[in-house]
Amino acid sequence: MLIIGSHVSFKSDDQLVGSVKEALSYGSNTFMFYTGAPQNAMRKPINGKYTMDAYNLMYKSGIDPVNLIVHAPYIINLANRDNFSFNVSFLTEEIERCEELGILKMVLHPGSHIKRGVEEGLNAIVDTLNAVLNKDTSVFICLETMAGKGSELGANIDELKYIIDNVKFNEKLMVCLDTCHLNDSGIDISKFDDYLLEFDKKIGINKIGCVHVNDSKNELGSHKDRHENIGYGTIGFDNLLNVIYNKKLEGVPKILETPWIKYSDKETYAPYKFEIEMIRNKVFNENLKEDLAKSHELDF
Ligand code: FE
Ligand code: FE
Ligand code: ZN
Repeated sequence: MLIIGSHVSFKSDDQLVGSVKEALSYGSNTFMFYTGAPQNAMRKPINGKYTMDAYNLMYKSGIDPVNLIVHAPYIINLANRDNFSFNVSFLTEEIERCEELGILKMVLHPGSHIKRGVEEGLNAIVDTLNAVLNKDTSVFICLETMAGKGSELGANIDELKYIIDNVKFNEKLMVCLDTCHLNDSGIDISKFDDYLLEFDKKIGINKIGCVHVNDSKNELGSHKDRHENIGYGTIGFDNLLNVIYNKKLEGVPKILETPWIKYSDKETYAPYKFEIEMIRNKVFNENLKEDLAKSHELDF
């Protein structure tokens, strides 16, 4: 069965049950969210009532909670050793929030070495993860493949492998493939099967815990990281379908992080319902923008 969803919000007034409702409105059977604003570390306590309601609703609507994903905030940079103790405590708390919410997988950007060199950056990430993970950690940390913007680490298989090989409790580590980031890092998604072979040889295909399905606004190897709607970018619809329906990745949650579509200053809408529809139908919808406008009763 195809497990597909998108990034959704997690608001303070209804928390997880609001996320479930949003995901269902797109026709999703999974979803990903930040436990608070991604650009800061302030977090509200989890309200158990909303979590209970969310689990009841998921049970009724056939969403299996094992497929839900939390995305760690992007302000934390594990490669920056100056913030070592903050990084350890924040990541530990974020794991506790996942446990409270019953979430098994957390996606994490490995970090940026900020002019200190790749080796020091990778070692700082390893040391942080070693300080956070223990034999009882109940969450899988999925290291995301990055575009290689600036001094981003994790833009190739070898850097991810280095981190995994050097973390003691690395059975808690997995990888999240992001198709836009792979394209921008120089991986040709039209040859995705070759990439999977290399990944399997070096890390192991069973380590892929999540796939972010995004088209890209930029050319192969641009090191930019700007997501585009499915089929509207340089990767293209058929290449993305080959990732989504790849037999080797069956059962791995596929998450859309494509941009919302802007019609005016006040009117910006999530494209996910229509993108998921075209993925399920396996037919590219060249009227995505028009159909989304119509569904919100906008003149277009
Ligand atoms: Fe990400
Ligand atoms: Fe991503
Ligand atoms: Zn991105």
